[in-house]
Amino acid sequence: MRKERRAGWARWGTPEHAKPLPEAVAGLLKQVFEVTPPVAPVAPEAVAVPVSPLSDLALAALAEVVGAEHVSTEIAERAVHATGKSTPDLFHQRSGELPALPSAVVAPADHDQVLALLATCVDHGLAVVPFGGGTSVVGGLTPQLGKPAPHPIGTPATCGTATGQAAVGAYISLDLRRLDRLVAVDPVSRTAVLQAGLPAPRADALLAEHGFTLGHVPQSYEYATIGGFAATRSSGQASAGYGRFDDMVVGMTVATPRGTIATGRAPASSAGPDLRRLFLGSEGAFGVITDVTVRVRPLAAERRYEGWRFASFADGAAAARRLAQDGPRPTVLRLSDEVETMLGATGRGRGDGGCLMVVGHEGASVGHAAAQTAAVLRECGGQELGTEPGEQWAAHRFDAPYLRDALIDAGAFAETLETAAFWSALPGLYEAVREALFAALSVPSMVLCHVSHVYETGASLYFTVVTAYADEPVARWQRAKAAASDAIIAAGGTISHHHGVGTEHRDWFAQEVGPLGVDVLRAVKRELDPAGVLNPGILVEP
Ligand SMILES: Cc1cc2nc3c(=O)[nH]c(=O)nc-3n(C[C@H](O)[C@H](O)[C@H](O)COP(=O)(O)OP(=O)(O)OC[C@H]3O[C@@H](n4cnc5c(N)ncnc54)[C@H](O)[C@@H]3O)c2cc1C
Repeated sequence: MRKERRAGWARWGTPEHAKPLPEAVAGLLKQVFEVTPPVAPVAPEAVAVPVSPLSDLALAALAEVVGAEHVSTEIAERAVHATGKSTPDLFHQRSGELPALPSAVVAPADHDQVLALLATCVDHGLAVVPFGGGTSVVGGLTPQLGKPAPHPIGTPATCGTATGQAAVGAYISLDLRRLDRLVAVDPVSRTAVLQAGLPAPRADALLAEHGFTLGHVPQSYEYATIGGFAATRSSGQASAGYGRFDDMVVGMTVATPRGTIATGRAPASSAGPDLRRLFLGSEGAFGVITDVTVRVRPLAAERRYEGWRFASFADGAAAARRLAQDGPRPTVLRLSDEVETMLGATGRGRGDGGCLMVVGHEGASVGHAAAQTAAVLRECGGQELGTEPGEQWAAHRFDAPYLRDALIDAGAFAETLETAAFWSALPGLYEAVREALFAALSVPSMVLCHVSHVYETGASLYFTVVTAYADEPVARWQRAKAAASDAIIAAGGTISHHHGVGTEHRDWFAQEVGPLGVDVLRAVKRELDPAGVLNPGILVEP
């Protein structure tokens, strides 16, 4: 099976891309926490493997669809497809004790092979987990399977139940990496059709040959894929200017066990409910997205990123709201709270105080827009710091997950969570999440936050938690995350602004949409996936 650049094992990046902690931050860590470097990770070849090989019959059937060279039962290959990249995932990888393990990794070449694979999996009682870049942080790649099959896994069987839920004991990871083409560009309409397995940098490189960009730059940019973005309703760092990924999608082709659905005939339509919206955020539970038609923008000729300082998080948030509601709207707009600003400044060897806002403009010519934005920010009490802090942010925009690796190596536990709410609810939400985290963690901890995405009516809050390693760090984090999630729902926030639901947010998502909402989603799943083979337990309870 062809292997391509992908995220590291038991860490985000590969060792050659490691980033050391700034000395000042490492010093701070030693002062605040009792840091105990963890033991070296178990190799992926050495993970604990349940005794459940696929039957020869099932393996042969999978190979018949995609070719034997595109079906892997190697332990290391299965292990790297078993989880995403949350910190608990990294700890599972380190220990070699994975919560689930696919019986095979299967890489189809095109939409028809995906359809045929789904049919084969239904026939053989195998669940199917679509795998894009493998960067899920909400348990989206770790299905919850039904009762194990009594006979060798993959013996022809009916695996579904009347509720469309799987009663299967094994699953395959359906790796979309071979669906990696730019299918078409329409420069007149400014749209492009991208296959789902294209990693974001490759998609941008292909679009750049035509003078276009997607403008979607999440922090997981290096590894995440086009299909993954659509399946999770991702949001990138330049969402203020380019919009969320949902805003960019004008159409999709989806393979389901019942056949193909193609959505998006026109830029806008009043022909009934929008089926695109049904599949955006469906996280592989309703079908496998095989290509996505996106709106593209001309490559930016100019970019300018600046830093602004505000006296407090509240003052900075008021300025961000003013820009989001009354304009002008920059391309990038981020605001760190006092703690995040302080730690960022410590890393750069400065102690500036207040709250840092990063404001970026991208486009054909940005001077006029930047000047207009600056006038508003000055009126709102902002202090201009020039382009240096903005350029620093841009140069290090993908560093955080590498620093998480360094923190774990140094013996600290670091993880993030995110939410969004209307502007009026935001201050209460911010306080409630911080309080819940500190109360539940009950060991020395730091909680950092920034506003990462703004809308006319509200914004998202992105929290980073760094906490002492101590005993059972994963279990303590899960308790803290549950407390923060309860606080989010109570304070009027959404359980996820851009990470999605997976298994981790499922219970709070059910509270958000209510029992009838869950029933509607179950009904859709039952219709599209009567045997319940697709991503069991992700999005809705099996
Ligand atoms: C360090 C780090 C930083 C991150 N930063 C951001 C950020 O800035 N913004 C953001 O939005 N997210 C972020 N994420 C979350 C994650 O990157 C996104 O959820 C991303 O959209 C997932 O894409 P992927 O290709 O890796 O999908 P995967 O992780 O492979 O899959 C995610 C889910 O979608 C399903 N899926 C994948 N491909 C398909 C398909 N073709 N059809 C149907 N279902 C599919 C999977 O089964 C799974 O349930 C971050 C994650 C990490 C680890």
